[in-house]
Amino acid sequence: MDKDGKDDSYTVCRCVYTRYSIARQGTIKMNSDLEIDIDIESYIYKYETHLHTSEGSACGHSEGAAMARACKEAGYDGIFVTDHAWGGNTAIDRSLPWREWVRQFAVGYEHARQWGEKHGMSVWFGYESGYNATEFLIYGITPEWMADHEELHDADIPTQLDIIHSGGGMVIQAHPYRVEDYIPEVRLFPQYADGIEGVNATHTSHLSIAHKSDTWNRDAIALARRHDKPMTAGSDVHSTTIFGGGILTKERLHSPKDFINLILSDDMYLMTDGDSIYDRYGNLLKTIP
Ligand SMILES: [Zn+2]
Ligand SMILES: [Zn+2]
Repeated sequence: MDKDGKDDSYTVCRCVYTRYSIARQGTIKMNSDLEIDIDIESYIYKYETHLHTSEGSACGHSEGAAMARACKEAGYDGIFVTDHAWGGNTAIDRSLPWREWVRQFAVGYEHARQWGEKHGMSVWFGYESGYNATEFLIYGITPEWMADHEELHDADIPTQLDIIHSGGGMVIQAHPYRVEDYIPEVRLFPQYADGIEGVNATHTSHLSIAHKSDTWNRDAIALARRHDKPMTAGSDVHSTTIFGGGILTKERLHSPKDFINLILSDDMYLMTDGDSIYDRYGNLLKTIP
C-alpha cells in the first residue's frame, strides 16, 4: 500500500536499488561524478500518457467515463486522453467545420474529465496526430486553443511542432517502429519532436493482444538515446483492459505543464509497460512479478 492507501503492484516495488550514474538526457555514464540512487518505491504517482476513447477514436472500445474509471481502479493518479485526430483513425466526421469537429472530438476527453473530477483523478487533454500512419502524441494544449488554431489541420510535420510550441505544448513521436497493415513503413522524425515514446505497453504487455513486438520499444529507446531526446511511456489502451503503462513520478503532477516540464527536465522519472519498470533513459530496473 502506498501513502494514499492504494494497493498498487506497480508503485510498490520492494526491490534491490540499483546504482546508476546519470549524466545528461539520454546518456548513462557509469563511473561519472553524477550518480544517483533510484529508489523505485519512492515513485508513487502513476500517469497514463496514451489512451483512446470510443467517442473520439474509431478503434476505441470504451467510452471516456469508463476508461477513466478503469484507470482509477488500476491505480493511476492522472491520465491523458489522446484520441486519434483527423489524420488518423478518428471517430469524428472529417467533413465537419473545424470548430464543430474539435468540439465533438473532445467529447471523450470531456466525459473522462467529468468522471475524474467527481472521483479524484486528473484527466488531461491530448491527441494523436497522424501523417500517413506516422503518429505523434500532442500534450499541453486545450480543445479551446485547438479550436482557435485551424492551421493545425493542414500543417506538415515540422509546422506541427512550431504550432504546438506556440501554444506551450509538446510533441512526442508515438511508437516510431511499429509496422502493421495500417503503418506501411517506419518514418522517423526525431528532429520534429520533443521526444520519443520509448515504451508503448501495447507492444509488450502480457495483457495486450495486438501490435506485439519484442523489438519496437527497444529500438524506440535506442532512437531517443541516439538523438538525445527524452522519452515517454504509455499504454495506447483502447478498452478497459488496462495494461498499466505510463510514467511514475515522485511528486504529484498538477497539470499538463507539470508533465511537460518533467519530461523536458533532467529530473528522474520512471517508465513502465505494466510488466517492467525502466528509468527515464530506458534502463530496465525491475520486472514486476
Ligand atoms: Zn487506435
Ligand atoms: Zn494510440
